[in-house]
Formats: sequence, C-alpha cells, structure tokens
Amino acid sequence: MNGARVIVGGAGLAGLTAAYELARGGAAVTVLDAREYAGGRVRTIRDFSAGQHAERGGEFIEPDHKELLALCETFELRLARVLRSGFTHRFRGADGTYRLSRTAPWEALTDAVAPLLRRYKLAGGDSSADAVREMATLSLSEWLRQSNAPADVQAMSKALRGFFLADPEEISVLPVVEQIARGGSPAQVEFFRIEGGNDRLADALVRATPARFLLGHVIRAVSHAVDRVTVTVTDNAGLTQQIEGDDLVMTLPASTLRDIEIRPELPDDQRQAIAKLPYGRATKVLVQSSTGLFDHRHARAFATDNHLGAFWDASEPLDCARGKDDGTASIIAFLAGGSAAAPLREAASRGGRELLSDLCWLGMSRAPVTAVHVGDWTSDPWARGGYAFTDPGFDPAWRPLLGRRAGRIFFAGEHTSERWQGYMNGAVESGQRAARELLADLR
Ligand SMILES: Cc1cc2nc3c(=O)[nH]c(=O)nc-3n(C[C@H](O)[C@H](O)[C@H](O)COP(=O)(O)OP(=O)(O)OC[C@H]3O[C@@H](n4cnc5c(N)ncnc54)[C@H](O)[C@@H]3O)c2cc1C
Repeated sequence: MNGARVIVGGAGLAGLTAAYELARGGAAVTVLDAREYAGGRVRTIRDFSAGQHAERGGEFIEPDHKELLALCETFELRLARVLRSGFTHRFRGADGTYRLSRTAPWEALTDAVAPLLRRYKLAGGDSSADAVREMATLSLSEWLRQSNAPADVQAMSKALRGFFLADPEEISVLPVVEQIARGGSPAQVEFFRIEGGNDRLADALVRATPARFLLGHVIRAVSHAVDRVTVTVTDNAGLTQQIEGDDLVMTLPASTLRDIEIRPELPDDQRQAIAKLPYGRATKVLVQSSTGLFDHRHARAFATDNHLGAFWDASEPLDCARGKDDGTASIIAFLAGGSAAAPLREAASRGGRELLSDLCWLGMSRAPVTAVHVGDWTSDPWARGGYAFTDPGFDPAWRPLLGRRAGRIFFAGEHTSERWQGYMNGAVESGQRAARELLADLR
C-alpha cells in the first residue's frame, strides 16, 4: 500500500475507472461528483412499466471498445447483441419520395471525401501535421459547398447530427475524414449493450472500489502546490468545505471544467484547449408503448436528416428479458443532435404520440404510448451537451493538451481520449491512463 491520498473529480466512467485502478494500486481515494448518482452520462432509466429499462445516455458498445469490454469481463457483465442489421438511412429525394438504404449514402459520402482522405493518410493521420490542421479549419458545410456535393451526400452529412451531435455548419470536416479512415460507417458495426442496463458497469465499479464517494458535491475550485492539492466543494446542503489530497484526477467534462477556478492557473495553451472544446447539443427521448413497436421487423434502427434524428428499438432483446413480465411492451429511442435537438425536445414535451405519428410508414402511428422520458443533455448542468466534437475553431494539435498532466493534477474523461473521444470507451481508457500515470509517479 502506498497510502497516497488521491481525489477523483467526477464519478462518470472515467472517474470510476480511475478510482478503481488507484484503489487497487493502494491509494486512499475520495470520489466527488455533483450528481446524486454515479455513472454520469451513463444512466439507465428504470421507471418504465413491465420491468423494462433503456439508456438515457451512453448506449452502444462496439467490438473494438477493448478497454470497456475487458472491464465488463472482469465484472462478469454479459453483453446483448442488438440492432443486428445496423441503421438504415431514410432520406427524402428531390422528387419528394423517401428512399431507404443501409449503405449507399455513406458510400457516396466516402467517395466524395476520397481526396481529403488521401491527404489525411499521407500525413499519417497526425493531428499536429499541417495538412490535418488545415483540414480541421474547414467546416463540413463549407466542404460540401466547395465540392459541389450531390443531394445524397448532403443528406448523409445532415444525418450525422445523430452521431456527432453537430450540424454540418458547426463541425469540422476532419472528424468525418477520421471516421472514414478508422472505422467506416458508424451505422454498420456490431452493436451491444450490457444486459440489464449499462449502469451495471458503474455499479460494479463502485462496489469493487474501496473509496469514499461524496455524491451531491459540486467542485468549485482547485489549488495545487508541489506537495498537495486542495479541492473546494459545496454539498447539496450548501455547505462549502475543502478536501485535501496528494493528487487529483480530474474527469469533469471540459464544458464544466472551464468554470472551475484552478490556482495556479493551467498553462495558457491547455486553458485555451479546455475553453474552446465544443460540446454537441443533444436530446434523447425514450418512448414506451404497450405494443411491440418493432415486432417482426428486420430493420430496427433508422437514421434520418429531419428532427427525429436517429431512432431505434431500445428494448432489451427478448432472450435477455426472459422471465420478466414484459408482455409485448417495447421502447423506442430517438437521438437528435445539433439544431435537431430542440425540435425533438419540444415534440416530445407534447407527448410521445406526436413522435410515433411521424412513423406511420412503420405502422407505429396508432401505437399506444405508456411512458415518455426526455433526456435533455444540452441543459444538463453537469454535462452541458452530449459529448465533445471538433469544430473549425478547435486546432486538432490541441488534443493532447486536454489530457496533459499539470503538476499534481491528472486529467481524464471522454474528451481527453484521442482515439475514443465521445465514447464510453474513451472514458474508461482515459481513466486507466490517468491512473497509470499517477501510480507510476508514486513508485
Ligand atoms: C445522449 C448520449 C448518447 C451517447 N451514446 C453513446 C453510445 O452509444 N456509445 C458510447 O460509447 N458513448 C455514448 N455516449 C457518450 C458516453 O456516454 C460518454 O462519452 C461517457 O459516458 C463519458 O464519461 P466521462 O466519465 O468522461 O464523463 P461523465 O460521465 O460526464 O462524468 C463526469 C462527471 O463529472 C461530474 N461533474 C461535472 N461538473 C462537476 C462539478 N463542477 N463538480 C462535481 N462534479 C462534476 C458530472 O456530474 C459527471 O458525473 C453518449 C452520450 C450521450 C449524452
């Protein structure tokens, strides 16, 4: 036991993973979070009838989310394969009719992006290379205009709001090039969820970590010196106190981290990166019906370029839900990003029926609605958006600064992961990285 006193700011997957590793390494850990629950942006909603649940935040796990999958294995959490045929795109053509296609719009986008992809690969995909930095200054919409992109490529770019949570006018073209270079279509991968709910991973981490968990504690300020760190927190009774430790692992999203007073200040370049990282506006709506909305359907997930965003069958697969009194009830999830987030939120606030009535082409317009849950991440005070993205004002060469250690403060969180920004795996991987850095320092 090295006995170092480590404070972990944030009890999302990044903070919980870091706390777990640090406690295993012998540190005395205190975890602080403003929310009343652990898990952060991983939140399983369980107040549906018929014993059903669905994910308000992080949902899909993919086969190359290695760190997250390994953690699930450690805690013997089983995974359920879902949405086996991926997402089908549904766009309106110039003649006013709708077209359905699983792969064609993404392939059209990939073809159009080919010249940029070549330049990106020539630069070795290096975020600090001039060619990559220059590409990042171009918005997706500007690139669409310059390349005179055809209608299907424009529609595909708009539909990506349901993935990047940003409009083509907001996001840089670079993340699109990176997505194509790394993994191809985000709509055609194998998707999994944790059986029983993704929050079971957060629960397992809490149970396995002998730490002091102070939930309902808002971090206001941090001061750090060569030999200690002091964190000022206010609890939900309004009491302000100072907590002292030897080191701090800070996993707050950049969207709230930038409001914390840190003394002495972080270096200018790092402060600038934290200040400028944009977060996508996001609304996720869960609608439960007493009928099986996707019964007998092969396609159970769709991506649109309208205010419904992407939507899919969010119910636990029947073979996992066996034994529960689930009858034929089902849950559909809608996720809209960027400028589609507000219209989806407003439509949902009038009841789920309006959303389902837009799905008459799937035969859902008369389905009885039994519950609606609206996840408004844009106005969530402890996230202020769904997840980070790269806009033309964010220099990709700043990315390493988000996770760069500053004295006794170590940084983690989805946004600090260079490979998995925006994913649960980014949170886990960065939490492990920060814990490794800190433990190496203590040796
Ligand atoms: C709608 C939506 C859909 C998503 N879908 C997917 C998906 O399908 N697959 C996937 O892999 N990922 C998905 N994600 C992303 C994934 O959920 C996140 O990347 C991941 O959960 C982030 O974990 P984290 O620990 O970095 O941050 P968080 O979970 O946000 O944890 C940070 C913690 O810091 C706390 N905090 C913030 N400010 C303060 C403060 N001042 N004082 C104290 N505490 C504070 C917060 O309360 C929070 O608990 C989705 C996210 C959203 C919102």
